[in-house]
Amino acid sequence: MANDDTNKGEFALIDLIRRRAAASDAVPVGIGDDCAVLDAPGGPVVITTDMIIEGVHFEETDPLLEVGWKATCVSFSDIAAMGLRPTALLCAAALPEGFSMQQAEEIFRGINHACTEFGVALVGGDTTSSTGPLSLCTTALGKADGHLKPLLRSGAQEGDTILVTGSLGGSILGKHLTFRPRVDEAVALNDSFDVHAMIDISDGLAADLTHIIEESNLGAIIEADKIPTADAAHELARHTGKTPLQHALSDGEDFELLFTMHPDAAARLLKQPAFEVPVSAIGRIIDAGLFIELDGQRRPLEPKGYEHFK
Ligand code: ADP
Ligand code: MG
Repeated sequence: MANDDTNKGEFALIDLIRRRAAASDAVPVGIGDDCAVLDAPGGPVVITTDMIIEGVHFEETDPLLEVGWKATCVSFSDIAAMGLRPTALLCAAALPEGFSMQQAEEIFRGINHACTEFGVALVGGDTTSSTGPLSLCTTALGKADGHLKPLLRSGAQEGDTILVTGSLGGSILGKHLTFRPRVDEAVALNDSFDVHAMIDISDGLAADLTHIIEESNLGAIIEADKIPTADAAHELARHTGKTPLQHALSDGEDFELLFTMHPDAAARLLKQPAFEVPVSAIGRIIDAGLFIELDGQRRPLEPKGYEHFK
C-alpha cells in the first residue's frame, strides 16, 4: 500500500475541507491532528475515524481475521498518537454481495481480538451490503484520564530531538496487516516524559514529519544513518530497485510513533527505556525547512509518503 508519489492530492483536499469546515468553540482541536479533541466533564475526549477498503488497504486474498485486526488497530494507532488509550470502538461494515456469514464472523473475530487486547469495548456500528469492495470504517474514542493531556502535532519546539519507535519501511510485506499499535508505549511516554509533539506514521516518515513541522511552524533535520530500517525494508529493496532508506522514508503504514522532546528528556529516555520496543533518536527540530544528512551532506528532503486520492 505504499508508494512515493509526490502528488499533493489527498493533503490538498484535507486542507480545503479544513479551511471550510464548520467549527465550534466547544471543540479545542478539530481537523488537522490524529484525533479531534472534545471537551468533556472529567477531562478531554479524543475521537478518530478511519476507513480501509479492499484493493487499497488490503487484498481480497488477505486473511479476514487480519483485515478485522487492521481495521481496528488503525484507529487505535491514532488514539495512541495522542498519547492516550482507546476506550470504545464503533465499526461500520460494507459487505460485498455474496459475502458469507462465516466471512463476516472472521472479520469480527479480528476486531474483537484487537478490542480485547487493548481493553476496548465494541459499542456499535453499522452493517450494509455493498455493490463495491469490502470496506470497514472504525471510529475510536479515547479519554485523557488523570494528569494525561492529549499530545498534538503542533507542540514541537526548536532544538527538540526527533524520535521514533520500532523500525520503518516495507510494511507491505506483512506488517501493515498485523502491526501492534503503540498504545502502551504512547501512554508510558505521555505519563513519564514531557513529549512536545507526536504523530503515528501512517503516510511515511517524511510525510508524517512534515505534518509535525507544518503544524508546529518549524523545520526538521534527520540523519540518514540514524533511521531504523526494518528487515522488510531491506527485503523489499531487493525487488524494487529502491534503497532500504527510501522505503523507510516513504512507505506508509508503519504505525510507529514519531515524537519530539527536549534533548535532555530524550537522553533520559534512551538511557532508561520505558518499554521494550526500541526507540531511536533520528534528528532535531530546527527553525525551518526539511533536510536529511546523508554521507556527510545536508540535502533537502521531499515530504514523500503514501497519499490517497492522487
Ligand atoms: P491520519 O493519517 O492520522 O488518520 P489523515 O491524514 O487521514 O490522518 O487526516 C488528517 C486530518 O484530516 C485528521 O484530522 C482527519 O480527521 C482529517 N480528515 C481527513 N479526511 C477528512 C474528511 N473527509 N473530512 C473531514 N476531516 C477529514
Ligand atoms: Mg495518524
